Formats: sequence, structure tokens, C-alpha cells
Amino acid sequence: MTTSSSSSSRSRRSVYGVPTKCWCGKGLIIWASETKENPFRRFYRCEIALQRKSESHLFKWEDEAILDEIKMVDAKISDIVHDFQSLSKSVIEQLDSHKNWMMSLESDLMSKLNEHFEKQNQAVDEANRQPIVPGHNFAAAVAIVGTIAWMYWKFL
Ligand SMILES: [Zn+2]
Repeated sequence: MTTSSSSSSRSRRSVYGVPTKCWCGKGLIIWASETKENPFRRFYRCEIALQRKSESHLFKWEDEAILDEIKMVDAKISDIVHDFQSLSKSVIEQLDSHKNWMMSLESDLMSKLNEHFEKQNQAVDEANRQPIVPGHNFAAAVAIVGTIAWMYWKFL
């Protein structure tokens, strides 16, 4: 009696992995096949299916169900590995872009600091040079005398 082979192809289309319930709602039991083609091969089937053989109930070989489960776990693992790889790639890219940004910020800051110090040095140089020029002192003296004269006329 080949209960299995005919329903096997049908169940393979509708159920993937280890089945938990039959289409009729009954729980599944693991039976051992007694056919010549599949001696002692274990399969899932509900009790009603064995009583009413004309009805269509779920059938699934146990080894195929377990193989499905292993494939699903494998697919999940490869999904996780893929997710992890793309995540670590994006983290590395972000870190790289942050590093580039920091480096450009640093070089900007350094060039601004250099500019600032150069200006300061120039100002110091000019300030050091100026007192040597006699005209400068004279002009300052004239300004001070002028201010004093103005205050003298204003308040007296
Ligand atoms: Zn059933």
C-alpha cells in the first residue's frame, strides 16, 4: 500500500519544515512506513487519516521535515551573517567618513591657527619696529598736547 508516495508530493508543496498540525486540526503522530519502497521510514500523519484513507490529510516524511528545518536554520544563519556583514561594512564606512571629517576639521583648525599666529607675529613685528620711527612719537606727543589744549579751552 503506497499511502505515502502519492500524498508525499502534495504535502511537500503545502508544508515546509516540521508540521505541527494536520489540515483537519488534529495533532500529528509519527508513524513508521511498512511499504517496500520505504521500509521503517518515519512520517507525520493524524489519526483520522489512517482511519479514513480516502480523505486528504497531511503527510510528511520525518527526515524531509528535519531537512527542511535544517535548511531554514541555514538560511536564517546566512541571513544573519549577511546582515552582520552589511552592518559591519556600514559601521566601517561611517567610521571612515567620521575619521575623514575629523582629519579635515583638524587640518582646517591647524591652518586657521597658523594664519592667526602669523598675523600675530606680523603685528608683533610691526609693533616692535614702530617705536624706532621718530615721527610716530612726535605724532603721539602732538595728539596729547592737542587734547590737553582742547580740555584747557573747554573747561576754563
Ligand atoms: Zn488530519
